[in-house]
Amino acid sequence: MMNVPLTVGSLLERAEKFFPKKQVISRTLSGVQRFSYKEIGQRTRRLASALEKLGINRGDRVGTFAWNHHRHLEIYFAAPGMGAVLHTINIRLASEHVTYIVNHAEDKVLFVDEDLLPLLERVKDSLSSIKAFIIMTDKDELPETSLTPAYSYEQLLSEGDPEFEFVKDIDENAPAGMCYTSATTGNPKGVVYSHRGIVLHSYAMGMVDTTALSESDVCLPVVPMFHANAWGMPFAATWFGTTQVLPGPQFTPKLIAELIEQEKVTLTAGVPTIWLGLLNELENGSYDTSSLRAIVCGGSAAPRGMIKAFETKYKIPFLHAYGMTETTPLATVSRLKSYQTSLNEEDMLDIRSKQGLLVPGLEMKVVSAEGEIKWDGNEMGELLLRGPWIADEYYNDERSKDAFRDGWLYTGDVATVDEEGVIKLVDRTKDLIKSGGEWISSVDLENALMAHEAVFEASVVAVPHAQWQERPIACVVLKAPYKDKVDKQEIMDFIAPQFAKWWLPDDIIFMEEIPKTSVGKFLKRALRDQLKDHLVQN
Ligand code: ADP
Repeated sequence: MMNVPLTVGSLLERAEKFFPKKQVISRTLSGVQRFSYKEIGQRTRRLASALEKLGINRGDRVGTFAWNHHRHLEIYFAAPGMGAVLHTINIRLASEHVTYIVNHAEDKVLFVDEDLLPLLERVKDSLSSIKAFIIMTDKDELPETSLTPAYSYEQLLSEGDPEFEFVKDIDENAPAGMCYTSATTGNPKGVVYSHRGIVLHSYAMGMVDTTALSESDVCLPVVPMFHANAWGMPFAATWFGTTQVLPGPQFTPKLIAELIEQEKVTLTAGVPTIWLGLLNELENGSYDTSSLRAIVCGGSAAPRGMIKAFETKYKIPFLHAYGMTETTPLATVSRLKSYQTSLNEEDMLDIRSKQGLLVPGLEMKVVSAEGEIKWDGNEMGELLLRGPWIADEYYNDERSKDAFRDGWLYTGDVATVDEEGVIKLVDRTKDLIKSGGEWISSVDLENALMAHEAVFEASVVAVPHAQWQERPIACVVLKAPYKDKVDKQEIMDFIAPQFAKWWLPDDIIFMEEIPKTSVGKFLKRALRDQLKDHLVQN
């Protein structure tokens, strides 16, 4: 067979050639704009040539500090298209982490959204490698900024070459992208994506048994483009000629619901807290969501009650998936096997609320101290992954040797596997609750709590306990109409029949809001800190 390198630039070339009329719909500070793939192609080529003029060479890191919009999509292809490396930076990280990431990756230029300028201005003096800031604004004039030297994105484009040729003679194993995971302790860890890894992952996104992303979809990645490449959607969607809807800055559940209705979105993706918010919005407003063929949910366990509510009340099919920044990220997807579709509704929901089956192309092992676990849905162990879109190290980081061993990625996730090979994540190793020598899954308790009609969000964490070592405490946010109308006992009575007595939380604490991580997951570290003295000695 021909040994043709798999390159990111070729993904956009296909959209330009075969789908020039299809659209990218982009919300920016000034409203919703529409671009054809022909326009996106030309703009991307102009940008790639501008990067070259700015002195960017092959292998140089090109940072982005931006929301999901068409310009971010253009950088997604312009940087790897001219041989550089797209480095997406999480805009919600603390200043010291942003500084660490930019300096550690040695970004040469930084693309920044106008409304995010103040966040970078605060740290500008500590960014040691940046030669130019490129400001993304819809206005003709550059906004006031202390970042120097600052260039206007649109000005650079207007001077660029729309015929610029993407690199063809690049090693497919060369870096194309980079993203740092938000480590819970210590500095974030960098993951480098190769051209080959991104292209193969894009194939995986298009498989019928995974997300089945296709030309006929209208996809709305709510998951940020700085979080594991918006789960690879922008790359795959562009390749397939899929219509893309990019929700832009400071979006709300209402805006997402409106975009779904107005643009007739068929496939959307995001973390559970986004969908809990949307569910709340659908309960209070009236929207036509009939175009949706699937909500893809990952990043944290999708609560079973939420899946059920979307499917039964709103007839919106739900697709639970699992992955990590280190896995590009798609690793498992939960779908029924053909011979499982005649099971009763509840059994089917049980299967679909697990994390699912390994995506074709990857390998897995689940190991405990005794070796590989039995596939009985009971034994637990750490999930190990390998494959062509799984990272094999962290970028210039000592911590690589802990996570990458003997050719496997140690995910830090504890899982069971049932007889069908379906993975269920019990917890992250660090979130499991160790009580009296036994393990309690915070995820299972959260699932049960969030199935109560009054519960909006729930997060369960371990607090230290003199006798039992650790005990679970539940933090619960009630839906607005139920505030002050539902008490702890009612919620405890609701979950009690589902668990052994010693699994039940020692206390339920009502909160106004559960703190979230920079990518919208429940921030258990903060809850643990807050509750560490909340000792309930039974
Ligand atoms: P961060 O570490 O910053 O949260 P990632 O998005 O890379 O960034 O997180 C990956 C982790 O998220 C996984 O290791 C796993 O613990 C969790 N995760 C991802 N998808 C799911 C899911 N469907 N169910 C439960 N946990 C999930």
